[in-house]
Amino acid sequence: MREEFLPFALPDIGESEISGVDTVLRSGWITTGKVTRLFEDKFAEKVGAKYAVAVNSGTAAMHLALEAVGLECDDEVITSPYTFAATAEVIRYFNARPIFVDIDSSSFNIRTDIIESQITEKTRVIIPVHVGGLSSELDSIHEIAKAHNLVVIEDAAHALPANYKGRMIGSIGDLTCFSFYATKPITTGEGGMICTNNEAWAKRCQIMALHGISQDAWKRYSREGSWYYEIIAPGFKYNLTDIAAAMGVAQLKKTDRMLRRRREIAYRYNRIFQEYSELQIPHDQKDCQHSWHLYMLRLNHGRLCIDRSKFIEELYKRKIGASVHFIPLHIHPYYRETYDYKARDYPVAYREYLREISLPIYSKMSDRDIQDVIEAVVGIVKKFKSK
Ligand SMILES: *Cc1c(COP(=O)(O)O)cnc(C)c1O
Repeated sequence: MREEFLPFALPDIGESEISGVDTVLRSGWITTGKVTRLFEDKFAEKVGAKYAVAVNSGTAAMHLALEAVGLECDDEVITSPYTFAATAEVIRYFNARPIFVDIDSSSFNIRTDIIESQITEKTRVIIPVHVGGLSSELDSIHEIAKAHNLVVIEDAAHALPANYKGRMIGSIGDLTCFSFYATKPITTGEGGMICTNNEAWAKRCQIMALHGISQDAWKRYSREGSWYYEIIAPGFKYNLTDIAAAMGVAQLKKTDRMLRRRREIAYRYNRIFQEYSELQIPHDQKDCQHSWHLYMLRLNHGRLCIDRSKFIEELYKRKIGASVHFIPLHIHPYYRETYDYKARDYPVAYREYLREISLPIYSKMSDRDIQDVIEAVVGIVKKFKSK
């Protein structure tokens, strides 16, 4: 058995991130400035978006995207319950209402064939979440949005680099939001990005990310700028620092290499786990590039005599970290109590949650680490299969 515990996730930080941060620290300019602008330009280029606005979290990105499209109190936003807290809390910031639509059991993504039945005269936005890094059905979602005059804001916190039928995530939606949290496909410690091809929305996000001020601090204090500024709306304090952006610039260069390694890990897991009827391997799609941010394994409970929690305990005993994605939002106390939801209101989300286990998948993993995960999973399956 392993001596050292294998963490569920680890960032892939090397000399290029360290020297990038070092340069910023020595430069005398540590908040939003030219390194942030460089990160935005490189990011926009990478995902094929016209505009990219850097902010200090994925949550801030989602909040600003909703603000930019003019979401108002009592509006409705269609999204999936199978996601992280951030996706729906930003809707509540406006006193608007999240309308959950259940997921497709194969992909964990929103079921597009039932979206239309949930649209009312209050619906303004659809937020699909690309769970684990596999794109949602964007063609159908955009078709519905177009027919009902809705905006599509993608929660792409997991989807870098990913594509939908050959088009990069970040270049397709009205607005696309990425996260650079510590465990995400690229990280700046904390950070996020809004991508769009719409100049007015980009401008609005930029302004609202920094107090609703019409020029940013860098322009204000640099020699070419001036001391004068105007507040045009009560904005937020969501700007990214150059310290963080320096990490982002270095991480962005490694995106494809990190994806190749994650894909290799996913395929190695799949090759072994597909042999076991106790397990269901994650869905991949030929025409959409998966970012493999998460490896979402599922247990076929009828064939095992332990449940998901016990399975994770057994992994921990074998020194393998694991996690669960996601505890559906509608079963959390806040949403349950505010909207009187029952677990079975979104039966697929609830059922799949009960049997999901996310296994370690990150570029820092060694071949030995991968082998240890495989041996641990197979060992548990063999020990606890139903007789
Ligand atoms: C991480 C995450 C976010 C929020 O990103 P932060 O950078 O942590 O604010 C939003 N949506 C999903 C699905 C996430 O996993």
